[in-house]
Amino acid sequence: MKFNKSHDAFKSAVELMPGGVNSPVRAFKSVDMDPIFMDHGKGSKIYDIDGNEYIDYVLSWGPLILGHADDKVTDELQKAILKGSSFGAPTTLENEMAKLVIERVPSVEMVRMVSSGTEATLAALRLARGYTGKNKILKFIGCYHGHSDSLLIKAGSGVATLGLPDSPGVPKGTAENTITVHYNDLDAVQVAFEKYGDDIACIIVEPVAGNMGVVPPVEGFLQGLRDITTQYGALLIFDEVMTGFRVDYNCAQGYFDVTPDLTCLGKVIGGGLPVGAFGGKREIMEHIAPAGSIYQAGTLSGNPLAMTGGYYTLSQLTKESYAHFNQLGDQLEKGLYEVFNKHNVPITVNRAGSMIGYFLNEEKVTNFEIASKSDLKRFAAMYKEMANNGVFLPPSQFEGMFMSTQHTSEDINKTLNAFDMSLSKLKK
Ligand code: PMP
Repeated sequence: MKFNKSHDAFKSAVELMPGGVNSPVRAFKSVDMDPIFMDHGKGSKIYDIDGNEYIDYVLSWGPLILGHADDKVTDELQKAILKGSSFGAPTTLENEMAKLVIERVPSVEMVRMVSSGTEATLAALRLARGYTGKNKILKFIGCYHGHSDSLLIKAGSGVATLGLPDSPGVPKGTAENTITVHYNDLDAVQVAFEKYGDDIACIIVEPVAGNMGVVPPVEGFLQGLRDITTQYGALLIFDEVMTGFRVDYNCAQGYFDVTPDLTCLGKVIGGGLPVGAFGGKREIMEHIAPAGSIYQAGTLSGNPLAMTGGYYTLSQLTKESYAHFNQLGDQLEKGLYEVFNKHNVPITVNRAGSMIGYFLNEEKVTNFEIASKSDLKRFAAMYKEMANNGVFLPPSQFEGMFMSTQHTSEDINKTLNAFDMSLSKLKK
């Protein structure tokens, strides 16, 4: 494959934007490549500006659960834009969208729309602190909850990919209020609560971690968090920005049958447009302005185009969509083990619904420490081969792969074949 146009575009971009990109993981730094500039997508395929075609497992980092340029979503967006792009006043589509979210997400009785996942989590934290009157929060090492100050401590995703320490610019006082422990370590959570329990406003957790690669909760972990927070009068926040409507029709909380106090959403609920949301128990949500005194606002919150993208994405997801994901997921998981075993390359595959992560690691991966033991050099080398073989994967060991309703069994076979060819080439 040739990447000449991408190469030239990146040369210009680095003079214009820090690192040449508008979000760090897009820079492909950890796989030691220049970014591939994209032109368009349809279904499970994405096409770069050099004309190369790929099977896409990035899907805009999760939102495109119906694949690229879904016909219904595209049609409705075209109709919506002709009516005007934003009004700064309510529209009835916001009611429809809220109803759909409330209907499908067990913990959500009321919801507030925002424009990104970062906004959703930062507002949920403020609400938890305002509601409980407590200051500290507990998060898990390697979980990423957006880039607000309180949450940019031991974060996963791009922070882990680039090997950055906790970000400069986060005030010490803010960092001191964030307690971090390992994912899946209930004992450590218990110890933290014994020490600081009187002042912990909330636990925030990805119910399936997706920002250190894909790491599901071990049996009893989420229920344990539910029990401890209830015991100490802290709130339990599920950050379902990635898992929401990806892991299951009723999100991860439906799948694991654990109901948090607050839920943060993003990605899929915008269907590729900028949307986030936070919601939860009515009694807690009514503390948000203007019903209550905890302030949160947004010029473009509930924007009609964003609501259109979200509404027509969610309304096309059915229980059958998730059966399709499970079928393809099984095929990919089984196939990955077969191909890697054939080449004697250690691998561990973790999966939850349409999220799937492979680690170049022999150990079962249950937290960030273990994820970090993966062979990052081999990952980078294989990444390049996979791109050359027409498969667009997330360019980091610490990010998961996503599937859409448009991915087919044939796509999975082609992908497994590409892994086989890539591993053969690397052996030489
Ligand atoms: N929470 C989680 C779990 C995420 O995966 C992300 C983004 N990857 C965010 C929050 C932040 O969302 P956004 O990038 O839309 O601000």
